[in-house]
Amino acid sequence: FTIDTDSILKGLNPEQKKAVETTEGPLLILAGAGSGKTSVMTRRIAYLMGHHKVQPWNILAITFTNKAAKEMNERVEKLVGEAASDIWMSTFHSMCVKILRREAEKLGYQNNFSILDPEDQMAAIKQCMLDLNYDMKKFEPFSVQWKISAAKNELLGPDEFKKMAGKSLLDSVAANVYREYQHKLSGINALDFDDLIFKTVQLFEDQPDVLETYQEKFQYIHVDEYQDTNRAQYKLVNLLAKKYRNLCVVGDSDQAIYRWRGADISNILNFERDYPEANVIMLEQNYRSTSTILDAANAVIRNNTQRKDKNLWSAKGQGEKISIYAALDQADEAAYVVAKVQEHVGNGGQFRDCTVLYRANAQSRAIEEVFLQAAIPYKILGGMTFYDRREIKDVMAYLKAISNPQDEISLLRIVNVPKRNIGEGTLKRLLDFAHDNSLTLLEAMGKAEQADLGAKATEAVKKFHLLMTDLHFTQEGLSVTEFLQEMLRRTGYREMYESSPKEEDKNRLENIDELLTVTRAFDKRRRGTLADFLAETSLLSDTDKETGKKDNAVHMMTMHASKGLEFPVVFVIGAEETIFPHSRSMDTTGGIEEERNLCYVAITRAQEKLHITYCTERTIFGQLQMNDPSRFLDELPEELVEKSGSDFQVVPRWEIGLRVRHPQWGIGVIMDMTGKDDELELEVTFQSRHGTKKVKPKTTKLRVI
Ligand code: ATP
Ligand code: MG
Repeated sequence: FTIDTDSILKGLNPEQKKAVETTEGPLLILAGAGSGKTSVMTRRIAYLMGHHKVQPWNILAITFTNKAAKEMNERVEKLVGEAASDIWMSTFHSMCVKILRREAEKLGYQNNFSILDPEDQMAAIKQCMLDLNYDMKKFEPFSVQWKISAAKNELLGPDEFKKMAGKSLLDSVAANVYREYQHKLSGINALDFDDLIFKTVQLFEDQPDVLETYQEKFQYIHVDEYQDTNRAQYKLVNLLAKKYRNLCVVGDSDQAIYRWRGADISNILNFERDYPEANVIMLEQNYRSTSTILDAANAVIRNNTQRKDKNLWSAKGQGEKISIYAALDQADEAAYVVAKVQEHVGNGGQFRDCTVLYRANAQSRAIEEVFLQAAIPYKILGGMTFYDRREIKDVMAYLKAISNPQDEISLLRIVNVPKRNIGEGTLKRLLDFAHDNSLTLLEAMGKAEQADLGAKATEAVKKFHLLMTDLHFTQEGLSVTEFLQEMLRRTGYREMYESSPKEEDKNRLENIDELLTVTRAFDKRRRGTLADFLAETSLLSDTDKETGKKDNAVHMMTMHASKGLEFPVVFVIGAEETIFPHSRSMDTTGGIEEERNLCYVAITRAQEKLHITYCTERTIFGQLQMNDPSRFLDELPEELVEKSGSDFQVVPRWEIGLRVRHPQWGIGVIMDMTGKDDELELEVTFQSRHGTKKVKPKTTKLRVI
């Protein structure tokens, strides 16, 4: 292939150019938001191929989402053409699936292994807890799941975990469940998300020849968002890079936002220790945002103590001030967003320019309702999405159970959907029978007559077994779409909804048809096997999943999911204490600082205009709350913001009888006033046990309500 290297380097600033041209040896690109880190990584890959004639299959690029990988691939393709399709560009998880599909047998798995999503994982954990007779009221399965996941991210197997675990009862329960759970997973030929990386690391550590094959393959390795890698990911990258040491990592320690999920910022901070010969490049020009937005972000992040200050600047001009809106409640907040979106579109802008960011998925509902009423097209990234719908999960469970006949979790989900008269008791007996005879559940179903079930149940089970085994053999030779249609017909799944008079079931049919659109696109793209299709869909991360097909729509997502993205107009909603920063983060300085990183990420998504809103009153998780405005708002320089709001008062006019709210003492009424201006003192009787107190508005955050 011939590639024009001039076009690859065109428009880069000197530091960016240096980063692209430094192709050999370890390279660390450390820079703030919007400075072109991801763009540089993309161009560097093109440059490796164009200038150094590196073969595309010798290049690996790891991105944070599949979507980011796809975008990067498209950009590289523009620069180098078709050959781009031979580069491995993917998330950590997708990359590991690709490796494990080839090497599964070396780990004692079959290559049609199932990938458990968090819901399947929870089902498996609960089963294990039942088997071990643990009281699930006393020991939260969710906490157990969390601990197991954390252990895997730290590369601790059940034995190591047991040794390292704390002394608490929950830890010892988790350790036992962990062992049982791994046993179950290998029995059903399944891996959970964390296993994908953990097992790949184990494979590389235990089998040096396998590792060497991949070291030879991936001679040039790139990792975006390196600040958010966890222990297991770090190990994986560093094993692969050990031989050629051509490792380029890109990141920004101010954007580390996944510590709560095991990410370890020291991975990026210690890069120069790991690779003393490393080149380090800092990028200082931001190409994304106006200087107003950038200065605001810089001012906020400066409140973090554990950081090196950066010198990020923008040549995009001042632009508009940041609008801060004090809403009465969520409805008012949503109405503000709608009005501003309409204003933007009225002035010739597009819906797709706008994005709404929030701290918790639960905040999206209020906005969604108002968007629907106002007929504003929107799409939600993450949260409850297409793949979380019941009918889609059912169909996927069928496909998983057919592709991997050992997959008991999926089998149990669909055995009685539609109704096949196979009851709980029958299943319990079958599971015991399977266990006693070392059979998989499906195998046990095949021998139902030996399981002492009674004639009717035996017949039902045998019929189901025949159906599933038959389907298993039917998949060969058919495309995924053809097979899916066949499966929907023969299992009676489609018929179940077709014969239903309920309106919502018509919706479900539409969703199933939508899934057929997905499989058609898959067949057209790569004509892979059913197992390939399942792997691809089960690995969709939060940001890859979106509701709605509309192209020109307002985006809605959590701040976490917005990492790496950019939009002309950004709304950050719910800027209130306990919402953002989140109440969970408030106990520790580290917690608050990570929230501040998240604030930095959110602000720096905006290119032209940033709106921030908060509510004086909100109902969330079913409770009425009154929160103070987020501390991050106080950190924004006055001259960069303009404030407005339904109840906004610059200095409240204090008067006797006014209802006020104090951050600690709650709601009260002003009974008396003495002094003037800065010396003004109010006597307030609080509803709480605090009774009557003297308060100086000058020094206390007192609000009129
Ligand atoms: P983040 O930290 O948010 O991930 P980033 O450092 O990865 O940001 P990019 O997303 O690569 O930054 O780039 C931000 C924007 O700046 C993109 O729109 C990109 O196209 C643009 N950009 C980067 N470098 C240049 C350049 N030299 N000239 C013009 N535009 C540029
Ligand atoms: Mg980036």
